[in-house]
Amino acid sequence: MKTIIANWKMNVGVRESVALARGTLLTLRGRKHLPELVICPPSVALSEVRKVVARSGALLGAQNVFWEEAGAFTGEISARMLQELGVTHAIIGHSERRHQLGETDEMVNKKVLHVLEHQLTPILCVGETKQERQAGKSKEVVLGQLKAALSGVRLRPSDHLLVAYEPVWAIGTGESATVADIVEMQSSIRSLVQEILGERTLSQLRVLYGGSVDGENAYGFLREKEVDGVLVGGASVKINQFRDIVHAACEVLEAQT
Ligand code: PEP
Repeated sequence: MKTIIANWKMNVGVRESVALARGTLLTLRGRKHLPELVICPPSVALSEVRKVVARSGALLGAQNVFWEEAGAFTGEISARMLQELGVTHAIIGHSERRHQLGETDEMVNKKVLHVLEHQLTPILCVGETKQERQAGKSKEVVLGQLKAALSGVRLRPSDHLLVAYEPVWAIGTGESATVADIVEMQSSIRSLVQEILGERTLSQLRVLYGGSVDGENAYGFLREKEVDGVLVGGASVKINQFRDIVHAACEVLEAQT
């Protein structure tokens, strides 16, 4: 199985989201072996996009979530509210939130615990900055973020955990990590998850790559056995690019059968 997450960020309004959702579903037409597709529109468009994706097999994800059930938390949205909108996944700890909105490891951890409690699947983003990479600290940073995020987590047999390795320097820059770097980091991520959550949970874990994935480079990532999928930002709102990414996943899946 390969998973593709479409993170539309704050790039489309409600009407554009509906049109984009329709276009996104068309990319799956006529293919035999489909990847799992999770569409993450801006929160204001979730209920309209839900109507488009209903019965399509595509899943709905939120770009963010808050960790409390309800109360005086102006502007925030809880897992239960997202569930009411048909959401099954939530992006947590995206670097744009960590670096531009001050989201800390502790906040990320609370969000992971909260969504799991509500049977949503966390799409946990981890990644190092350019400076951290240049200082030779990529693994230390990524594994530190992962360890903090998983503190106190216990996966039930029905839970899933998606971890997206997203080097900050690769997001939206056109510069992606090499396949070798990704595979190595993903193997370290798997080992740490096994250490923290136990070997049995490895079948519930998917490790994705994100960072300037486009129609041209997607196949190179997706054909790697270790890469369970990709998280796509910029190219997910450009339907021609996104179609090529989806088709790259279909080709990989078709070649496996
Ligand atoms: C992202 O939004 O997480 C992302 C990877 O963006 P982009 O594909 O534009 O680099």
